[in-house]
Amino acid sequence: MHNKSLSELSTALHSGDISSVELTQHYLDRINKHNAELNAFITVTDARALEQAKAADKLFASKKAGALTGIPLAHKDIFCTQGIRTSCASKMLDKFIAPYNATVVEKIDASGMVTLGKTNMDEFAMGSSNETSFYGPVKNPWDTDRVPGGSSGGSASAIAARLAPIATGTDTGGSIRQPSSLCNLTGLKPTYGRVSRYGMIAFASSLDQAGPMATSAEDAAWLMNVMSGFDKRDSTSVDRDVPDYTASLNDSVEGMTIGLPKEYFGEGLDSKVAATVEAAIKTYESMGAKIKEISLPNTSLAIPTYYVVAPAECSSNLSRMDGVRFGHRAEDPKDLMDLYTRSRGEGFGDEVKRRIMIGAYALSAGYYDAYYLKAQQCRRLISNDFQEAFKEVDVIMGPTAPTPAFRFGEKVNDPVAMYLEDIYTINTNLAGIPSISIPAGFVDGLPVGLQIIGNYFDEGRLLNAGHQYQQQTDWHQRVPEAFK
Ligand code: GLN
Repeated sequence: MHNKSLSELSTALHSGDISSVELTQHYLDRINKHNAELNAFITVTDARALEQAKAADKLFASKKAGALTGIPLAHKDIFCTQGIRTSCASKMLDKFIAPYNATVVEKIDASGMVTLGKTNMDEFAMGSSNETSFYGPVKNPWDTDRVPGGSSGGSASAIAARLAPIATGTDTGGSIRQPSSLCNLTGLKPTYGRVSRYGMIAFASSLDQAGPMATSAEDAAWLMNVMSGFDKRDSTSVDRDVPDYTASLNDSVEGMTIGLPKEYFGEGLDSKVAATVEAAIKTYESMGAKIKEISLPNTSLAIPTYYVVAPAECSSNLSRMDGVRFGHRAEDPKDLMDLYTRSRGEGFGDEVKRRIMIGAYALSAGYYDAYYLKAQQCRRLISNDFQEAFKEVDVIMGPTAPTPAFRFGEKVNDPVAMYLEDIYTINTNLAGIPSISIPAGFVDGLPVGLQIIGNYFDEGRLLNAGHQYQQQTDWHQRVPEAFK
């Protein structure tokens, strides 16, 4: 039951082969059995899930069920879920019960899906390994001595171990795609503004986007149909029709031009990962796609630019966690200043503090022009590189991450090494364009992702390209032995 696609699950539910309560219970049992080892969920909402499943079964009985009705999913613990703890994996919000639902949660609830729980993540989505969570690291089901990637590592681990058929994630610099790559999943970061950010706890507001994490491009397309769309409560949401993302899945990729940026295949890329990605690209060639070498000359600016923009925005966003309106409150404060400083000192972990300090410095009077303004100019150059490239090619392909999953502790004390994990993903957040990671093979038993980047609002083409590859290969169907 836990190796079926959403379409198969939907058919089984609609035909009455299985009820939503049975399906939900099946996943809850798997969570019960495996979560202690993987630490993928922070909160399991079992009672509520079974209530939602019962409601879904009523819809089937009255023939009012939709395509996704009754199918379970997990939400990254960054999305506000009314009446349920929404922690962002921080001590700061350990006791925060969200008073309302994020738009993404609202839309998914309305589709009749069943929420199994909230998944673990790096604290406030800052990290690439899930080691910064207040609730402890998440394990990679492919090798439990290794990280699942981050920051959406809990969602990735949960799907890879088949504790949930699909999940939500968010991506500020790679947090959907890099864990998808490290856990053998399909993860899509949509165009900035495609999916509402309302009720998604902000990290870096100009970069954050929510998207689906799934076992296949087809499943991701199903969830994109529900998640996407204009929301007047998010001022950066784009008012533009949502296509049916499943409708273009079967289009041929013959004649599609694939750009290979030389900057994505150079120094720093593991040679076996490079070979795996190149083999995947050959498969596209055999399907009739054309290859063109391109250059994205400002690629090397991406990491420094991101590590000014993201900390600057997070230092501003996280200022609301002051122990008064939001967040952990220190005991017995001497005065107001003591309340602020101790609440924040106690509530935030080291990586979050590092970013707040960098951001506050970059934004301070006298430094704003030198850092934040300069970073915004670099951002434009990065974005222009992509626009130049898309004059010649339909999509851009390359690795998602420079290495397969690494061991716990390997990079956590070396922030720069950790930051380089996102060298191929951060660019697209800075440019606001969509990008998908799909399973492309294995290196020493560990999954490797192929990244496909498209122009604004080209999610349909990315899902189509992913789906066509998944018709030729079975990497995406592989499940770690212990979780079959
Ligand atoms: N790993 C990157 C960071 O630490 C990206 C995180 C994300 O996309 N949320 O900021």
